[in-house]
Amino acid sequence: MKAAPAAQKRLLDLAELDSALDRLAHRRRTLPELAQIDDLSARVARIATQVIAAETESGDLAREQTKAEADVDSVRIRAERDQKRLDSGQVSSPKDLASLQSEIASLTRRQGDLEDVVLEIMERREAADSQAAKLVAERDELAGTRGVAEDRRDAAFAEIDKEKEEVQSKRAEVEKDIPADLLALYGKLREQFGVGAAMLQGGRCLGCRTSLSIAEINRIKAASHDEVIRCEECRRILVRTAESGL
Ligand SMILES: [Zn+2]
Repeated sequence: MKAAPAAQKRLLDLAELDSALDRLAHRRRTLPELAQIDDLSARVARIATQVIAAETESGDLAREQTKAEADVDSVRIRAERDQKRLDSGQVSSPKDLASLQSEIASLTRRQGDLEDVVLEIMERREAADSQAAKLVAERDELAGTRGVAEDRRDAAFAEIDKEKEEVQSKRAEVEKDIPADLLALYGKLREQFGVGAAMLQGGRCLGCRTSLSIAEINRIKAASHDEVIRCEECRRILVRTAESGL
C-alpha cells in the first residue's frame, strides 16, 4: 500500500486521539461511583428483605393480639354473667352457689393468664415494629447515599461524554487527511491490536517498543517514502518521521 508521507503522519494524530478515546471509555467503565452504587444497591435490597420480614412478623402478631384480646373478652363476659347470677340472688342452693363461686374464681384466674398473653404479644409486636422502623431508616439512609453517588456518576458521565465529543470532532478532522484504504487498514489493525499505527523513533517501534534489526532498518531506508511500512514484530503501521533515525 502507498500513501503520501503527510497522510501517514496524520495516522499518529489519529492514534493519539484514539488512545484518548480509549482512556475516556476506560474512565467511564471504572468510575469508583459504579462499584459504590452496586454495593449500596445490594445493601438496600438486603435490608428491604429484612424490612418485609419484620413487617410480616408485626402483622402476624397484630392478628395474634386480636385473637388473644377476643379470648380475654369471652372469659370476662362469662365471668360477668356468672357474677350477675350470683348477685341476683336467684341461686339459692348452697351447692350451686359454691359451684358458681368456684367457676367465677377460675374464670378470673383464666382472664389474668390471658391478659398476660396479650401483654407478651404486645411487647413482641413493639419489638418487631421498632426493628422495622430501624431497618426502614437504615434503608432510606443507604438509598440517600446511593442517590448522591448516582448524581456524582451522572456528573462524571456528562463530563466524559463532553470530552469524548470534542475528541471525536477532532478525529473527524484528522480522518479527512487520510486516504480511505489507509484508514481502513488502520481501523482493522486498531480493532485487532488496540493501536493501529505507531511512530518509528530512533530505530524503535513505539507500538511494541521493539528495536528494529539492522536489516529491517535497511529495508525501510530502501523503501520509497510513500510505501506504507508495517512493524515486523507487532504488525502495526510504522510511521516514519524526522525522529525515526533512518
Ligand atoms: Zn511494533
